[in-house]
Amino acid sequence: PADSETLGRHTWTFLHTMAAYYSDTPTTTQQTMMLSFLRTFSYVYPCWYCAEHLRDEMLRKPPRVENRNVLSRWMCEMHNGVNQRLGKKIFDCSKVDERWRDGPKD
Ligand code: FAD
Repeated sequence: PADSETLGRHTWTFLHTMAAYYSDTPTTTQQTMMLSFLRTFSYVYPCWYCAEHLRDEMLRKPPRVENRNVLSRWMCEMHNGVNQRLGKKIFDCSKVDERWRDGPKD
């Protein structure tokens, strides 16, 4: 079985990559599907206390799914909320594309 740190690392890779490759101009259907995915995810993520925190956070700060940019930013802010709670470094959200889509500028 995966420990919650390994699970977390891999899951963030998936979530940030999903946001980084979301459409710039999603259809209403795509937006609805993303919202319903995130809502479902917050119930099935197999670290139960993490999932519970996430659901609380999502109530306070509902997911933004209007386009790639705002979704990536929202995901970054969710992750920073967890970072802060765990005493980890806060990530600079202006760097999400570099980290999760484009790679470092040479
Ligand atoms: P991680 O936090 O896993 O980050 C991986 C990489 O993402 C980093 O190396 C960095 O390059 C990049 N990164 C960091 N911050 C950001 C950001 N804000 N935006 C974009 N990229 C970033 N653990 C708990 O102990 N308690 C919890 O309540 C908890 N809740 C979680 C909720 C969710 C939804 C998820 C996916 C994970 C949760 N975790 C929780 C796990 C925790 O967030 C970490 O994944 C785990 O502690 C491993 O941390 P890490 O230092 O390896 O880096």
